[in-house]
Amino acid sequence: MTEKKYKSYTLRNYKKIKQLTKVSEDDIKSIEVVGNVLPFKANNYVIEELIDWDNYRDDPIYHLTFPQREMLSSEHYKIVEEALDNNVSEEKLFSICNDIREQLNPHPAGQQCLNVPMFDGEQMSGVQHKYRETVLFFPTSGQTCHAYCTFCFRWPQFVGDKSMKFASKESRDLAKYLQNHHEVTDLLFTGGDPMTMNFKVFRKYLDPIWKVIDKTNIQTIRIGTKSLSFWPYRFVTADDAQDMLDLFKMIVDKGINLAIMAHFNHPVELSTDIVKEAIRNILATGAQIRTQSPIFKHINDDPEVWAELWRKQVNLNCIPYYMFMARDTGAKEYFELPIVKAYDIFREAYSKVSGICRTVRGPSMSCTPGKIMISGIAELNGEKVLALRFIQGRNPDWVATPFFAKYDEEASWMSDLKPAFSEKFFFEDEMEQIYHQKYSDCEENKFE
Ligand SMILES: *Cc1c(COP(=O)(O)O)cnc(C)c1O
Ligand code: SF4
Repeated sequence: MTEKKYKSYTLRNYKKIKQLTKVSEDDIKSIEVVGNVLPFKANNYVIEELIDWDNYRDDPIYHLTFPQREMLSSEHYKIVEEALDNNVSEEKLFSICNDIREQLNPHPAGQQCLNVPMFDGEQMSGVQHKYRETVLFFPTSGQTCHAYCTFCFRWPQFVGDKSMKFASKESRDLAKYLQNHHEVTDLLFTGGDPMTMNFKVFRKYLDPIWKVIDKTNIQTIRIGTKSLSFWPYRFVTADDAQDMLDLFKMIVDKGINLAIMAHFNHPVELSTDIVKEAIRNILATGAQIRTQSPIFKHINDDPEVWAELWRKQVNLNCIPYYMFMARDTGAKEYFELPIVKAYDIFREAYSKVSGICRTVRGPSMSCTPGKIMISGIAELNGEKVLALRFIQGRNPDWVATPFFAKYDEEASWMSDLKPAFSEKFFFEDEMEQIYHQKYSDCEENKFE
């Protein structure tokens, strides 16, 4: 496989992308204006091998990586456009853009205060422990990606404002925490993208945990990554590709399940020779690849696309895992689909594939009480309702219990839904308690 040297493009140097000559002046202007508020980053693989520039306006990967005008409200767009036209100072521009960012719900679903565990009487930075079995770890060095998705719900991690960031410089406290918390079976490295770290840096984060692994109850290590889609060379021709693959093998040989949680949003990301080779290399270590993606307008709001995505993944021996609803942050209005529409697409796609592809679950909303899945549209007692269930709950007892919301064609998130047949959802009182007793100073919306 021929090597490619990674080259990234951001707002600073994107004019060097020669394919942009195919893009209209208006669309370039949108990149400039929106790109000042929402971070963007593309790379030479995405540009050269994934985007069809002759049809860029309809191209899913173009929408996935480049800012579009409608990602900001017309009001916000105008404010930034004027600031740029007037050549305001950099500080002024930063503060204007930061004001706008603050209005885009940068930390959805209790990420910053509700999920952070305590250790030695202090909040652990860069660690989230929301669901009993699984701890999330955000290594500081993994808080970037090979390219940025325009729908990223972690976008504040990529903006130069420290107060918006969430990460940990090292993992020694986490190693101790895991020894004291044997209810935790799964450790999930996340970001950003932990696979942007080189082998040595990744190893540095793993080592303290690896040293005590027998004193923990870790049975699965997951690595959330978009690298297979944005930079598959990571696992083929990169200088440390073999070292990383050997490390995967070391984890598997220990009898620990290693799950690479790969983000694929569209079948085109699975079409190149290099991604196929990267997948083969990872699977050869004994690791599994499980796949996940949100459902979005402009990128994959089509049952054919999803059926093909799952089918291709299975053909490459990957396991479809989650379909998510777009998070209520950043450019959500540009991407979001009503719940009912997302469910229809899911159902139609799901009905087209064999049982082997139906390991996928969704559409699921990651909200403050848990991961809530839309399991169907039904009529009960003459009332049309949405049937819901928790895939994961802040209280594990909530999981897998069916509950119902009033049918609503407009609703696009849990917070838009009203309970059917009762005043409150069954978990609301308990959620209220968790919220008030433990986290009275948490400003985040409890049902978002
Ligand atoms: C999705 C998620 C997990 C993992 O849940 P699984 O059902 O085990 O895949 C863990 N923590 C948080 C905060 C999550 O959003
Ligand atoms: S891969 Fe995930 S963290 Fe990285 S830019 Fe995309 S959505 Fe954000």
